[in-house]
Amino acid sequence: MGHIRVLPDHLANQIAAGEVVERPVSAVKELLENSLDAGADHIRLAIEAGGKRKIAIWDNGHGMDHDDCLMAFERHATSKLTRAEDLFSIRTLGFRGEALPSIASVSRMTLESRTPEATVGVRVTLRGSKIEQVTEVACPVGTHVNVGGLFFNIPARRKFMRRTETELSWIVNLVTQYSFAHLDKRFVLESDGRTLFDVTPVTSLKERIYQHFGKDMMRHMLDLDQHCDWLHLSGMISTPNYFKTSRSHQYLFVNGRLVRDKVLSHAISEAYRGFGEGHTHPVIFLFVHVPSAEVDVNVHPAKTEVKFIQGAWVHDRVRDVLRERLVAQPLTVTYRVRTPPVIARQTSLDDRTQNHGPLFTPNDDNPYQRFVARHEVDHTSQPSHIEEPVAAVADKPLFHAEPSLQNPRVIGQFRDSYILAQDREHLYVIDQHVAHERILYDQINATLLSGSFERQKLLIPETVEMTRAQMIDFESLEPLFTRFGFDVGALDDRTCVVREVPAFLTSRQVGPLVVELVEKARGQRDDAAVEAIIDLLAATRACKAAIKINMRLTAEKMQHLIDQLWSSSSPLFCPHGRPIALTMTNDEIERNFLRK
Ligand code: ADP
Ligand code: MG
Repeated sequence: MGHIRVLPDHLANQIAAGEVVERPVSAVKELLENSLDAGADHIRLAIEAGGKRKIAIWDNGHGMDHDDCLMAFERHATSKLTRAEDLFSIRTLGFRGEALPSIASVSRMTLESRTPEATVGVRVTLRGSKIEQVTEVACPVGTHVNVGGLFFNIPARRKFMRRTETELSWIVNLVTQYSFAHLDKRFVLESDGRTLFDVTPVTSLKERIYQHFGKDMMRHMLDLDQHCDWLHLSGMISTPNYFKTSRSHQYLFVNGRLVRDKVLSHAISEAYRGFGEGHTHPVIFLFVHVPSAEVDVNVHPAKTEVKFIQGAWVHDRVRDVLRERLVAQPLTVTYRVRTPPVIARQTSLDDRTQNHGPLFTPNDDNPYQRFVARHEVDHTSQPSHIEEPVAAVADKPLFHAEPSLQNPRVIGQFRDSYILAQDREHLYVIDQHVAHERILYDQINATLLSGSFERQKLLIPETVEMTRAQMIDFESLEPLFTRFGFDVGALDDRTCVVREVPAFLTSRQVGPLVVELVEKARGQRDDAAVEAIIDLLAATRACKAAIKINMRLTAEKMQHLIDQLWSSSSPLFCPHGRPIALTMTNDEIERNFLRK
């Protein structure tokens, strides 16, 4: 007798669940999509313990009759697809017929549903795929699904769930995101008996953004509505001076489906290139509409990824449309130089265009970057003792192999901004601002870790507006805020108050910083959250206090700076990888003068 068997249904469902239902938020996504596909315009979700204990959803969609309520739990049972060709013209969010059986196989589920024609509804109770009871029930038209004890029968999966706050904040984000794609619908989200939001139907995206994020964000948003051939792009994008520290404020929809898409994300970064970079991300609500034949939505079991048939073309159109919209803005922007911790200076677009070439010139077109690029290439072909300083300095002290060598000596200052220095083998051009920033960063980092810093009460406590999702993260991060010198508290579910801060921060507005801290630390494990907070505080303080460019320094001061810098473990790069010093080796100089 052979060894091959067909898997029993409940096992096949559990395996499918592994792909479809990774964690509570994936179950919420499937249930929400089913309600939207059913034509509901009022959807209410009640979550308990971040979805781990309970996910309940009520919709006023078309409902299901008795037979469909049972059919829905068969694997690959769907009302949305009948022929293979339909796969290429999908207009619904679901189509694989996997979600309900998958979720049911890893939970205790109850489904109640009634169609408009029926006088009475049906209730189906299941436990890990097994239908336990089917009864009549008095209920309104529409569907109610209750998912309890997610992964109760798969302990290994239970372990992978994160803290309640983390799981909840993903759910809040998801429902928020869907509410942007469905302006004409009402979404209510409750968690452990508390209403997190209740957004009523609106007629414009602007109003929806306002409902969730308040007026501050609105002031920084540009609307978008552009056709390119068969591609239609609409939505809102942030002005060049408004950034977030994570991509969590980028909402991408393709034909109404919420997606993560590398093609679109890359096009967005390209469009904003030259404004904020590295650790900063614009706020984006982008709705991409394409004919269904131009996009394959069936490339991922959770349907969160799509594949554009003409990916490169879509990429370039998105990049160009966004870029044109940004350039058309007569604005004053904050010009952020490369990665944090450096926020260099205020300058107007006109100013930048005159002084630094065209606004959107890619970085590697400017002479400084060209120098760095050439320099790096040259070094890879150098003998190892020269290659080391530039390529591998981050984790090694420089030059310790030759104690005979001293720290570089100052030669002079170039344009009151760059320190020129030399040692036996190298000529250095050191950015005085970034160098000082590096030194301060190390110092503050050490102080924060040791906890030996002053705290100071604010004269006037500052209130900070946040989104509900941020507030949830904020509440779970409160102990960390306290540890790092903040006295903070929630005022209501959208506002917190800051009463006390580390003394080194009193000179600045702390509101935006608190929001940034929440964004940086959200969803991280404890040690990573601590690291993120220290990093941001140190970088913020270092940037503010560091010697600026365009400041004349005495030779003594410059030498002191270099000596301090060289005693750090990584004198040539700032903590985020930005170069502090350009080096040119003797060998390079000789070769460039054709002496070799
Ligand atoms: P899919 O959405 O891919 O079709 P599901 O397993 O999510 O697969 O759902 C199976 C079927 O159950 C759907 O095709 C739909 O007919 C029905 N269904 C599920 N949820 C609802 C709902 N909230 N309202 C009405 N019908 C629903
Ligand atoms: Mg579905």
